[in-house]
Order: sequence, then C-alpha cells, then structure tokens
Amino acid sequence: MKTNWYLHGLNCANCALKIEEELKQHPLVEEAAIDPVRFRLVVKSKEAQIASIIEEIVYRHESHVEVRREALERESFPVPKLLIVSLVLFAASFFFEGHFKTALAMGAYFFGGHRVIQAAARTFFTRDVFNENFLMTLATFGAIYLGEFAEAAAVMLFFEIGEYFQDLAVERSKKSISALMDLRCDRARVERNGEVIEVDPAEVSPGEILLVVPGERVPIDSVVWQGETTLDTSSMSGEAMPVYVEEGSDVLSGSINRTHAVKLKTVKTYQDSALARVLEMVENASLKKAPTERFITRFARYYTPAVVVAALLLVLIPVFFFAQAFEVWLYRALIFLVVSCPCALVVSIPLAFFAGIGTASAHGILIKGGSDLEMLASIETIAFDKTGTLTEGRFALQEILAEPGIDADDMLEMAAYAESLSSHPIAQSLVKAYGKVIDHTRLGSMREFSGSGVHAEVGGREVRVGKSGFVGADDNLPGIHVSVDAEYWGSFVVEDAIKKSAASTIDKLKKMGREILLLSGDASVHVEQVADALGIEKFYGGLLPDEKVRHIEEIARMKKVLFVGDGINDAPVLAASDVGVAMGGVGSDAALEAADIVLISDEIDKLPKAIEISHRTKRILFQNIIFAIGVKVLVMILGAAGIANMWLAVFADVGVALLAVLNSLRVFFDRSA
Ligand code: AMP
Repeated sequence: MKTNWYLHGLNCANCALKIEEELKQHPLVEEAAIDPVRFRLVVKSKEAQIASIIEEIVYRHESHVEVRREALERESFPVPKLLIVSLVLFAASFFFEGHFKTALAMGAYFFGGHRVIQAAARTFFTRDVFNENFLMTLATFGAIYLGEFAEAAAVMLFFEIGEYFQDLAVERSKKSISALMDLRCDRARVERNGEVIEVDPAEVSPGEILLVVPGERVPIDSVVWQGETTLDTSSMSGEAMPVYVEEGSDVLSGSINRTHAVKLKTVKTYQDSALARVLEMVENASLKKAPTERFITRFARYYTPAVVVAALLLVLIPVFFFAQAFEVWLYRALIFLVVSCPCALVVSIPLAFFAGIGTASAHGILIKGGSDLEMLASIETIAFDKTGTLTEGRFALQEILAEPGIDADDMLEMAAYAESLSSHPIAQSLVKAYGKVIDHTRLGSMREFSGSGVHAEVGGREVRVGKSGFVGADDNLPGIHVSVDAEYWGSFVVEDAIKKSAASTIDKLKKMGREILLLSGDASVHVEQVADALGIEKFYGGLLPDEKVRHIEEIARMKKVLFVGDGINDAPVLAASDVGVAMGGVGSDAALEAADIVLISDEIDKLPKAIEISHRTKRILFQNIIFAIGVKVLVMILGAAGIANMWLAVFADVGVALLAVLNSLRVFFDRSA
C-alpha cells in the first residue's frame, strides 16, 4: 500500500535525502521517495504501523519536524527576532575594542547561532553526525578557540541569514509554481431528489447532474445538459481562447466556467476524469528523479565526508610531518568545514526540475518526471504518427467507389454496421456518413484488428473493413476497403486534413537539429502525401503497431528517439521510445499510462516548446553545478593556500546556495521559455 506523508517544518533538502535513504533501507519499507521541493514523502509498505517507522526515522534526523498526512501551507515568514539582535550586536562590535568587542561578538554569535548549535547538539550522538549544523558549529567553535570571535559570529550570522533568504525564495516560488499546477476542485454541486447539494466530487456517479456557476471549475468530465456558456480551458490545454459550449457539447474537467450557470451531466467518475489524472501526474512528477538529481544525491553522500577528511588531513599533515604551526592550519581546515555542505546543489537542482515541470504545465504540457524533462533535451530523432497527430484525425467520407453491380448504399450500410462498435476515427466517420440508427440485433460477432481494420458478422454475412490487404485485395491500395463474404465490394475515400500548425512545427524541429520521421499504419500513398506536404523526407506507411515498435526499437539502439502519437493504439510504441508523447491524451487511459509527456490540447506546436523548456532547464542545472562546485573548490584551494578567510567561505556556502536557487527560478520566471 502506498501512503503519502508531509514533513512539516523540514527545510533542509539534504536531510530529506538522508531520510529517504534510511527509509529505503528499512526492512518493512518496499519503496520510499521524497519530493525534496515540497517535502512530500511517498512510502510503499505492507506494514500497518508504517507511521511509527516513518516518525522514528524522521525524528532521529530532524526532531522538530512534524509528520502529517496532509499538506499545510506555511503562511508567513517572520524574520527571526534573535537574528536581528545578533546583527545589531555584530555591527556594534566594530565600534569597540578589547573585551567589550569580544563580548558583543560572542553575543552576536549565540543569538545568531542558537538554532544551529541546538540542532548540532541533537544530532551529536546519531549516525548523521556530518550534518551541516554540526559542521558549522564545529567550524565556529574552532574559530572561537583561535580567538577569532568576530569571524565565528560572522559565519553563524551569515549562515543563518543565507538560510533565511533561501527558504524565503524557495517557499515563495514553490507557492507560485504550485498555484499554477493546482487545479484542485474540492466540491461539486450535484442535483439529487430535486435539490442541489454540495458533495465531494469523488462521491458523484456518472450520469448525475452537476450545477456549475461562473467562476467555478468543472470537477468531472461531462456533457452540457442544460444551458450554454463559455469555458476557460487554459489550465488544461494551455489555450487562451475561451471555448463556447451548448447542450450536448463535451466538457473536460478542469475547465473554468466563465459566463453562465450550466447544468452538466457527468460521463465519468471523478477518479477517471481528466482533472484527477492530471493532478495525480503533476503531484508525482517530483518523485520521478532525473539522472542529474540522482547524481547530486550520490555526490552529496560522498562530498561532505570527503571534505571533512580533507580538513583533518590539512591539520595533521603539516603539523605532524612538517612541524608547522597548529593554529595556522587549524584555521585553514575550518574553512573546509564551512564549505562542506552540498546544500547549494541539493536545494537548487530539484527546484530547477520543479520549475521546469511547472512552466511546462502552464503551457499545457504535462511531464511525468524530472527524468523525462531531462531526456527531452537529448532527443535526436522525432518520430510522428500521422493520423490525429499531424492530421486532424477527423475523417470525412468523400466518395464511395463501389465495384460494378454493388449498391453504394448497401456497401456503406454493411461497413457502418461492422464499424459501429469501433472507436477508430475512420470507423466513426463511416458510421456518421451512414447516418441511420444501428440496429445492434443485426450485428453478430465483431473483432477489431489494431492497425488493419474490423471483421464483423452483419445479418449473418462476413464483413471486413480496412486496409486493402486486410480485406483480401491487393496490398497498399489507397482508401478504406470492404469485402462481404470474401467478395470485394469496393472502397471509401476518407480524408483527413493536415493540422494548421504541423508544417511550422516540423520546420522548427528541423531547425533545432532534430531528425524527423513519419511512421504510420495508413497506406503508403496517404503517408507519402502528408510527408510531401510537410517536407518530411523519411516516412514509412502500412505499419502494424508491432512494426512501429520494431522501427522505434531499432532507432533507439543508435539514437535517442521521441515518438508522438495521439494515443490510439500507440501505447506500445510510446513505451518503447526514449520519450513517448501523447497528444490530447488525458481522455485515454492507455496513453496516459504509457506516455512520458502528455500534450493536453491537440496542438502539436507544444512540442518545440517542451524541448525549449528542457534545454533551458538543463542549461541552468549545468550552470548551477559548475558554479557551486567551482566556487567551493576554489575557496578550498585558496583556503589551503592561506589566501581565503572564513568570511569568503561562508559566502561560498550560503551565498552560492542562494544564487543557485535564484538561478533555478529563472526556469520558471522567465516565461518566454
Ligand atoms: P492506425 O494504426 O489505427 O492508424 O490504422 C492504420 C490503418 O489501418 C488505417 O489507416 C486504416 O487503413 C486501417 N484501419 C485501422 N482500423 C480501422 C478501422 N476500424 N476501420 C477501417 N480501417 C481501419
């Protein structure tokens, strides 16, 4: 059983990772993942008393943290008063000399550092002794021992000020990013026994009537039952244009009613609706960690002990082997302790992913996890499905080419009956063109062959509708073909328009240096037409779903490949590619499961945008890694050489962390991305 927990009061991402690590190793825990941005913990375990196990581990690391089942907003960020007292004492110490100066500096030290020192004391006897609080305390105790009172005070004070601003920046941006992704809808107004009552959306069954007034979000996928209004679907599709709906129109949950109160008839349960699925995906995105995040976790595990050992050697070697002065080398070693927390990276890297995923979702691009966001930038080949992806996927019957002696109306009737249970867009176009009510008693067995057609028994006759080869005619003829009792009856010309944004999207992707490929189950002649119109040189038609999978697997052996499909029959291909993108797939279970990225609207032009966001995120991650590690290494070198002091070291610690956090937020705040 998977359970969700929130760690309130935790503000140290490094500690969060340690907690996750320890939980993973617990024999009763099957899986544990922590979102280091929102401090949400997901634990899978069979054990009923998992709460006490989690609490015990969390308290051992961070005893002030509260483990809860629900999220609590942190409302305000008061500046700690003692920090101000400390700052004043510290400033005052510059105006005095002698013992009084020392007393003021020590006052500043204790007022500024009480939280750190207390936390260090708490963890002193635990396995996690190399935590940042303990190391800061150790470094400043060292400075005090050396008589560097002002430095000790400065290190504590700036460490705390840096942490405060860092928390503030993270918390504020977390709120604004979360607000964008927060589509929650806690209640539904439902009509029951002539009365309108408010209930939890999860308690509404399909077929019930909802009342949605202007300003409210539609909680469940529905159709308009009574009334008309305009909807803002932007949070679900990223499209700014309001959508007009009237009786009979489909309404996707998550849309906001803009103008008139309407009654809607639900077609799904809350759990199966687009909104609930999107929310679940967004919620879990930070748990699916990217390679860079995993690298940072591993790096963090070794970095601190390595720096502490280096600090120790920096004292021992010169003093014991070269008879150097202990005080000089102790001071240099303390500089190492001050820069020994990998916090800058541990905080800023997950934040950049969070910001990237948030920005994408604001554009109607749902990314399932950091790993998918990261992979997107490395994609070399993009394979498109044709129908519904590059074309509208809305077929219209243009012409009936019946064989001599066959009545065109009879042929359409046979085909419409055979197709009546299929959800394929071609099937629907034939049923629509037939236009009469289907008498299902005339329909015997029906079987759909994915990527080929249907085989059905209609009024006791064997009807096949689909590709030319599938109905027994020559392979690869254009159109949709029909045979009845193994006799060829003719074909339908069904057309599907190319999407308006397809050409410009292909163009943009080519300019981004991506190789473009078209894979389709449709007859090669149709595929070639579309490929020509869009300037795609490589295309393959007539592919069955497993052949598409084989194509993708073959490319994936050499190159990073992305597949974009509309989600119908595409699940295996989506899963086989490095990144699978489903379009408009919030409605389809299989696509949502198999895809790594879902473009909520049918707009293919979101794809270059998603790649741009990925590049931007990666660039920022890279800058942060180079900057944070670079500055720390530089300070250690300068420190060992006796050039840097502890002031510089504290900047290299918290200053760099703060700058890295602010840099990560650029992914989100620069909305041109
Ligand atoms: P798909 O992979 O679903 O795009 O299908 C590839 C091709 O198979 C289509 O272009 C049609 O020619 C044929 N096909 C698949 N399903 C059907 C169907 N239900 N009715 C008619 N033709 C179909």
